[in-house]
Amino acid sequence: MNEPLLRVNNLVKNFSVRGGLLAREVDKVHAVDGVSFDLAAGETMGLVGESGCGKSTTGRCILRLIEPTAGEVWFEGKNVTGLGSNELRALARDMQIIFQDPYASLNPRMTVGAIIGEALTIHKLTKSRREFEDRIVELLETVGLHADHMRRFPHEFSGGQRQRIGIARALAVSPKLIVCDEPVSALDVSIQAQVINLLEDLQAKFSLTYIFIAHDLSVVEHISNRVAVMYLGRIVEIASSRDLYTNPLHPYTEALLSAVPIPDPEVKRQRIMLQGDVPSPIRPPSGCHFHTRCPIRQLPLCSTERPELKQATDGHWVACHLRG
Ligand code: SF4
Repeated sequence: MNEPLLRVNNLVKNFSVRGGLLAREVDKVHAVDGVSFDLAAGETMGLVGESGCGKSTTGRCILRLIEPTAGEVWFEGKNVTGLGSNELRALARDMQIIFQDPYASLNPRMTVGAIIGEALTIHKLTKSRREFEDRIVELLETVGLHADHMRRFPHEFSGGQRQRIGIARALAVSPKLIVCDEPVSALDVSIQAQVINLLEDLQAKFSLTYIFIAHDLSVVEHISNRVAVMYLGRIVEIASSRDLYTNPLHPYTEALLSAVPIPDPEVKRQRIMLQGDVPSPIRPPSGCHFHTRCPIRQLPLCSTERPELKQATDGHWVACHLRG
């Protein structure tokens, strides 16, 4: 692979848990625990796992909306984690985010035109009022909305339309990378497909690179070139979309896939029910974080030694003592 557009190297994020009268740190939430991957220009990486696995925190640390505790993020050969606020503001043009809840992420007191135009103003991307409005109309039409929508407010739109406004806002600065943080989770199934199709069309049109975060493997299957599965802050498997869906190696991926409905009624897949809930990221299990729920664990190996991500076949990586 050529020099990747994005390189994430051993990213760690801990959140303090504070307590007592002096609000001292009494514990830590280990949200992201040594995440590494590369992303090529034009690629879509699906980042999948149950809620609380650290996928959204990973996305936000990459954009430095949250400061990572340790590790590095490189974008076009530049170390993002070392940038000051001015350089970071310039970089915000290249890296954007689309949020899960399009209503909560849109200021209800601003018109759609003002919401989409905010970044144009911040980055001084238009020279006149006329140019500013023309650009907003262009962005609205690009995402399937109309010019007269610019004078309306977010509450006047459906969930799918609001997500289109969020996408137009992200596109305003002509970014290279967009972190799509569960962009369709809050939408009806019929609308989900429309928004995913729109994102695919925009990727082809503007040569975009996506990190597509979802809790459901079925959502990322078609849009992703590669998929990384996360469990309790760690990537446990990473492979091309086709490899992951046809030949999952990690027992956690197998369990997630077994819950994905198959459209062909002739094909039956045995549902794998995992024991218990996801453990707390405050005190994650020792060794392999998954060992408390793993149907094939081998003790004491799995409870004492952390399995590293190893390449099992070309481009297919897995973190498991028994499947590497
Ligand atoms: Fe299961 Fe052990 Fe593999 Fe972890 S390392 S997934 S506990 S077999």
